Amino acid sequence: MALWTATGFVGAQQPQNFDSVDIKVQPAQGNVYMLVGVGGNVGNAGGNAGGNVTVQVGKDGVLVVDTQYAPLSTKILAAIRTLSQGPIRYVINTHVHPDHVGGNENVRKAGSTIAGGNVSGDIQDAAQGAQIIAHDNVLKRMSAPTGTQAPVPSAAWPTSTFVGEDKKLFFNGEGIHILHQPAAHTDGDSIVFFRRSDVISTGDLFTTTNYPVIDLAAGGTINGIIDGLNKIIDLIIPVYGQEGGTLVIPGHGRLCDLGDVLNYREMATIIRDRVQDLVKKGRTLEQVKAARPTRDYDPLYGSTTGFWTTDMFVEAVYKTLSAKKS
Ligand SMILES: [Zn+2]
Repeated sequence: MALWTATGFVGAQQPQNFDSVDIKVQPAQGNVYMLVGVGGNVGNAGGNAGGNVTVQVGKDGVLVVDTQYAPLSTKILAAIRTLSQGPIRYVINTHVHPDHVGGNENVRKAGSTIAGGNVSGDIQDAAQGAQIIAHDNVLKRMSAPTGTQAPVPSAAWPTSTFVGEDKKLFFNGEGIHILHQPAAHTDGDSIVFFRRSDVISTGDLFTTTNYPVIDLAAGGTINGIIDGLNKIIDLIIPVYGQEGGTLVIPGHGRLCDLGDVLNYREMATIIRDRVQDLVKKGRTLEQVKAARPTRDYDPLYGSTTGFWTTDMFVEAVYKTLSAKKS
């Protein structure tokens, strides 16, 4: 999560106690695992510390989606090594926020170290470490200074970016489809679909812990979030009436299936429609807030404290819908 501002990120700079954070390894299915930060006092994501990390392992090595906060890299890498001793070949970033890209540099470098046992004919690749793949807008935000200095050191930047709708790669015996979701949580969101394992890693487009975080300064919009949720739902093939089918690793929170994403999309759509209706009637932001368009969902997702309050959510929805109208 976190938010982009002219002076850096909000939400990532809270009192942090990384020492007491444990990284829990949870199998999703197939070759794909989820690493969850547990404990500590990091962020406000329902007790979890930082963003979820997705790991795919197999005969070709290791692919990692998102890299958490940098101080957790040692624990993240140790957790990865309980799954595979193979070289870390790829990092994919779902978006630019520091709780998802903070460990880029460390994980990338570990990729080069681990390749040490496997460098014959591949020395160049080994020297460069893992490739970091992201949508081009992620690189733009990491590298384009808002002041005089780039927000993120160049060693953490994506090394392989894509523009347009998607990027595909084949690794560990399965097709991996990286799909850009425009103007959603940010302007550089990607979801990552592991086609054989049948798992989707969503980044912060989808979480179980809070209202959709719309990072206005980073190009987020409520309609982009809903479009992204619809895309995730399109990709899911469930097994009705029993366990199975596509599983979903959210940006924050627990492992999910179709039902969870459907509920979340319904919430986002209903609140969007309520606010849209009030915008059409010419209501001011204060009037919209007073109408409490989130009321029935507040027990599940609402917050009056932290970096993403219910008020901020309503305001972001209002602003993106108002901007669209004019
Ligand atoms: Zn985020």
